[in-house]
Amino acid sequence: MTLLAYRFALDPTPSQERALRSHAGAARVAFNWGLARVKANLGQREAEKSYGIAGDGLTSPVSWSLYSLRKDWNVAKDTVAPWWRECSKEAFNTGLDHLARALKNWAGSRKGKRKGKPAGFPRFKSKRKARLSVRWTTGSFRCEERHAVLPRIGRVKLHEDGRRLADLVAAGTARVLSVTAGFERGRWFASFAVETGVSRPAPRHRDAVVGIDLGIKKLAVLSTGEEIPNPRHMSGALRKLRRLARTLSRRQGPDRRTGRRPSNRWERASAALGRTQGRVTDQRKDGLHKLTTRLASEFGTVVVEDLNVAGMVRNRRLARHVADASFGEFRRQLEYKAAWHGGRVIVADRWFASSKTCSGCGAVKAKLALSERTYVCTTCGTVLDRDINAAVNLARLAGSAPDSNGRGADRQTGLVPQVAVKRQPGTAPAGQTRSLPPQGESAA
Ligand SMILES: [Zn+2]
Repeated sequence: MTLLAYRFALDPTPSQERALRSHAGAARVAFNWGLARVKANLGQREAEKSYGIAGDGLTSPVSWSLYSLRKDWNVAKDTVAPWWRECSKEAFNTGLDHLARALKNWAGSRKGKRKGKPAGFPRFKSKRKARLSVRWTTGSFRCEERHAVLPRIGRVKLHEDGRRLADLVAAGTARVLSVTAGFERGRWFASFAVETGVSRPAPRHRDAVVGIDLGIKKLAVLSTGEEIPNPRHMSGALRKLRRLARTLSRRQGPDRRTGRRPSNRWERASAALGRTQGRVTDQRKDGLHKLTTRLASEFGTVVVEDLNVAGMVRNRRLARHVADASFGEFRRQLEYKAAWHGGRVIVADRWFASSKTCSGCGAVKAKLALSERTYVCTTCGTVLDRDINAAVNLARLAGSAPDSNGRGADRQTGLVPQVAVKRQPGTAPAGQTRSLPPQGESAA
């Protein structure tokens, strides 16, 4: 069983859009009501403690489990939101669920039980700034070929084709667990959380190994010699983005200090900018998905470099392009997709000199300038495109990688290549961790 999300852009009618907004507003109202209650209770207890009251003398604490929040909400809703019947009860549940999670995260990180960044105490959701979203876990929601059916909202037109999901559900191979309608970048989306039992076939070339050299100028070069062009929609759309941003800056925006509300023209310009940014992001994601899907379904083993993405993004000149090419996202997709197909992903050691090593004889060059686009080996005379040479070296690594079960995405990091390496004077053995600059040059 795999959990997947199918996300579709929606084209709601004006009245459906009003209903969606009102549902998202209902979620916010329930969230803020619950938060105010918990906050008041915590404050009361604090104050009592400061007067020296302890134990049973204290006001009893308010539980913030979803169950209790829901129970208390049902008692309070007639006074807090007398209009509650206008919205699906799932809308209020969305808000209470968010609150229960937020409080749990806060309590968890305060007690040091939670990994990751410390979570602060939840804040009230603002009417103007809060993200609009509502989630249904019960009721009759489904995805049709051209519509998303949402309880109380109705049949909302899909901007995209929903046939694939509708067919899977009809065939009984997928089950929709929940649907979330959310407003993002000037547009409503429906995201279906789907449980599917579709088993994916083994990679077409189960024993084949492919090395991938990720790049900036080209998205990737495969050890098979194939080049995959970069989906540089970002660069192409950059002019449009700049123009829209300039327009936005000429409009009267919101001001926190004076409490000035944004003008309608600012709102419109802001939405236009958001839409363009969104389109760019979606196109980029689409290009990556197509490539990783292909690689995972075709090759049994995929070897990629461990690029220091965080370090590269800090380098200003490269930053935009690196972010554009989304290296991190590429690897993430590749790893989970390879796991689906039963293939494996090997990540080469960051210090592995994939560009400097000759794929013909294994000699390692001490220096290789970024401008040298062709690898010329002085030892054996091999002449090869720089990126293909690097990709071939990566593919070679697979032979030395331990393969315990032949399945799953191994994350090999301390990998030492076992290609015969001719040591040249002044050249340390490849694969050994030492203070070399990272293999960033293959990405330039
Ligand atoms: Zn050579």
